[in-house]
Amino acid sequence: MKKILVFGAAVLFSLSSLAQTSTQRAPIFDVHVHASKINPNFANDMSPWFLSNMPGADPNEPMPKFLSSDGAITLKAAKSDKEFQDELLATMKRLNMTIVVSGDASVIRAWKKASPNPERIIPSIGFSDNKGISVKAFEDSLKTGFYKVVGEIGLQYQGISPSDPSVDGYFEVAERLNVPVAIHMGTGGNGMANLTAPKYRASMGNPLLLEDLLAKHPKLKVWVMHAGYPMIDEMVALMGANAYVYVDVAGMIWSYPLEEIHAYIKRLVQAGFGKRVMYGTDHMVWPKLMETSIGVIENAQYLSHDQKRDILYNNAMRFFRLDK
Ligand SMILES: [Zn+2]
Repeated sequence: MKKILVFGAAVLFSLSSLAQTSTQRAPIFDVHVHASKINPNFANDMSPWFLSNMPGADPNEPMPKFLSSDGAITLKAAKSDKEFQDELLATMKRLNMTIVVSGDASVIRAWKKASPNPERIIPSIGFSDNKGISVKAFEDSLKTGFYKVVGEIGLQYQGISPSDPSVDGYFEVAERLNVPVAIHMGTGGNGMANLTAPKYRASMGNPLLLEDLLAKHPKLKVWVMHAGYPMIDEMVALMGANAYVYVDVAGMIWSYPLEEIHAYIKRLVQAGFGKRVMYGTDHMVWPKLMETSIGVIENAQYLSHDQKRDILYNNAMRFFRLDK
C-alpha cells in the first residue's frame, strides 16, 4: 500500500513539473546520462521498478527478458535520434538541468550543437578494459578539453576489479590531469551474467575493491555509479575511510523495487553521507525517465528539503568543483 502511494506521488510530480518553466524550477544535475544512436529494434518500452518481480527462470527455457513493460506505468522508448534529442533538450530546459553524458561522441556533439546552453552538457569518456582505447589515446582525448569527466568505467562487466594493475594507467592519467572518474559498481539487474554480459561478476561491484586504487592515487576523485547497490555496508565503510568518494543513485532509482531504493538511499543519508549522494538516471532511451527518477527523490519522506536539494544539485556542483 505504502508503495502504491509513493508510486502515485511520483506520477503526480511528473505531471506537475510539466507545467512549470525553468525559471521557476530549482536546478537539477544528472551526473549519469548515456548518449547512443537509437536502434528502434532494441529501444523497448519500460515500466519503472520492474525488478520488483524476478520470476524463477530455468536455463532450459527461453531467457527471461532484461526489461519489462507490463507494470502500472510504462515509459515509451524514443524511436529516433531526433526524437530523443528533442525530448532531452526540452526536458533539460523545462527542469533547468545540467548533465554529464558518456557514449557516442557524435551524438554528444549533436546535442551540444542543438542546445541553447551547451556548457550544461558535460562530455565524459569511459573504458571497460585495456583492450579498447589505449592509455595514450585516452590521455590525448582528455587533453583536447572536450571531455571533462572519465566514465562510465565498465570494468565490472568484464569481471575486472578497479584496482587491477591492467587498467592502472588510465587512472594515473585521470589523477594527473585532475579529471573526476565514475566507476560502475553494483547493479546488474536480473541475470546480467546470463543475458548480455557473461564476464559480469557481482563480486567485482564490491565498493571495497576501490581501496587499493584510492591508496595508490590519493588525488583521484572517484564517484561510485549506482552507489554500489546492494552492498550498503561496504559502501558506507569505503566512504568512511575515503572522504572524497561520492556516489550516484542512477539505474537503481528506477529499476529496483521502490521500497528497496528508498531503504538504500535512506541508509546512505542516515550514515552521514547526505552531502555525497548525487542524483543520476542512467538515461538511455526513455524521454520521461528524468521526471520519473526525480520524483523518487522529491517524494522521499525521510529527506529534508535541503537534503533533496543537495542530492538533486548541490552535491554534484561541489563534486565537479563548479560551485567556486
Ligand atoms: Zn552503470
